[in-house]
Amino acid sequence: MAGITQAGHAAGAIVGFDLAHGIGNLELHLHDWNVDFAVWCSYKYLNAGPGGVAGAYVHQQHCNNTDLIRFAGWWGNDPQTRFTMPHDFIPVKSADSWQLSNAPVLPMAALRASLEILPKPEYKI
Ligand SMILES: *Cc1c(COP(=O)(O)O)cnc(C)c1O
Repeated sequence: MAGITQAGHAAGAIVGFDLAHGIGNLELHLHDWNVDFAVWCSYKYLNAGPGGVAGAYVHQQHCNNTDLIRFAGWWGNDPQTRFTMPHDFIPVKSADSWQLSNAPVLPMAALRASLEILPKPEYKI
């Protein structure tokens, strides 16, 4: 994935991955590999069950770019104006701006239990 990302960037592309079969299954270093974005479902290797929440990764370098096109979800709107229901979407200046809708509570409980038993990656912060 690091090599694919590097080759994509060399060709001027934005590089994203479908991690439906990678999340919970592969050791991932998306930030270090400079992956621009990734998406996944949680009902396969993360064991959330049917209706489990989807996941998305956006590289830190893109988080403050409010020009990127995204679904204008209520949860992704600036919390300072979220409850005023503004006509225009004002994205949160972080990966939170890609949030959509409410989390499904029962699959979230299954996902939490699963994440507690899966091996933890080592994070460098
Ligand atoms: C399962 C899967 C998805 C996600 O499918 P949804 O049911 O829409 O969450 C995406 N890509 C691949 C390759 C898959 O196998």
